[in-house]
Amino acid sequence: MAYTRKKTRVVAAGNVLIGGENPIIIQSMCNTDTRNIESTVNQIHALEDAGCEMVRLAVPDMQAAFSIGKIKKSVSVPLVADIHFDYRLAVEAINQGIDKIRINPGNIGSYRNVQILADMAKEKHIPIRIGVNSGSLERELLKKFGRVTPEAMVESALGHVKILEDCGFNDIVISIKSSGVPFSIEAYRLLSQAVDYPLHIGITEAGTVYSGTVKSAVGIGAILSMGIGDTIRVSLTGNPVDEIKAAKEILKSLELRKFGIEMISCPTCGRTQIDLIGLAEKVEKRCESINKNIKVAVMGCAVNGPGEAREADIGIAGGKGEGLIFKKGEIFKKVPENMLLDTLMEEIEKL
Ligand code: SF4
Repeated sequence: MAYTRKKTRVVAAGNVLIGGENPIIIQSMCNTDTRNIESTVNQIHALEDAGCEMVRLAVPDMQAAFSIGKIKKSVSVPLVADIHFDYRLAVEAINQGIDKIRINPGNIGSYRNVQILADMAKEKHIPIRIGVNSGSLERELLKKFGRVTPEAMVESALGHVKILEDCGFNDIVISIKSSGVPFSIEAYRLLSQAVDYPLHIGITEAGTVYSGTVKSAVGIGAILSMGIGDTIRVSLTGNPVDEIKAAKEILKSLELRKFGIEMISCPTCGRTQIDLIGLAEKVEKRCESINKNIKVAVMGCAVNGPGEAREADIGIAGGKGEGLIFKKGEIFKKVPENMLLDTLMEEIEKL
């Protein structure tokens, strides 16, 4: 079953297309100091290797903006400059070859400043992401709605959109992030009804690697399953590479994208007689670098394993001192426990 995705406009950030029927793009953000070119480039390389397709950099001052050109020379993934308040940083980021800007036009001063930025971005075909966060809602909207609500967030986003549209600029991406899952789901639902611009989705300040991944998976997953979302970021307090792993699993789980081998494994129970947890971890590790569109199962017992994992292309089921290799639920061969892993990997190679 595939979700019907809302058809949004398409914008291009470098060589990556966002929106329409293009794949849902995985983003992350460096937590290095952008002025430290070496550490930032190293982190971008790690993110690229993990499968990140767009990387955002904080640009808090002119020195950070000046670093963009040098960083860009060493990486291939499109870069997004994250800018607050000072349109001159955005202008310099564009001069340095940035691929996308994240800035809220309502926060950068006069109409003239916005027009300068919009004209420049338009000329260079650089999209602008409007990023409304629940923590930074305008005072007048707080007064009007009494508190931060999904409706207030949408009104804020539409206000920023209108400013860019009035400048003749339409290469817009919007995000409307909150740390609350039900709140975010409602906010994106309302926003998606109001615009056809591509949407960047995520749960902001989601938490540490474990709890933040669960929260993001629930929130982003729910929003994606409504057909909403063109790019995603899992925000974790941790190594950003973990954000990419989580984002890939979310997209894989909803069958929205494929990233190599999909693994299924049983939770183990009283019937398990081998070290299935250790075995599953080893299989996952060895499958990480294999780019095959197949399902691999790691099951704890021969009684239920092959049948329960019938949808897997190949799998193993543990026994006592030995195990089974099965294909599409049918037993293929019996091997000693110490050869299970290598035999499985050999058979995967042949598929
Ligand atoms: S596959 Fe076997 S060991 Fe695993 S949970 Fe099912 S019954 Fe238990």
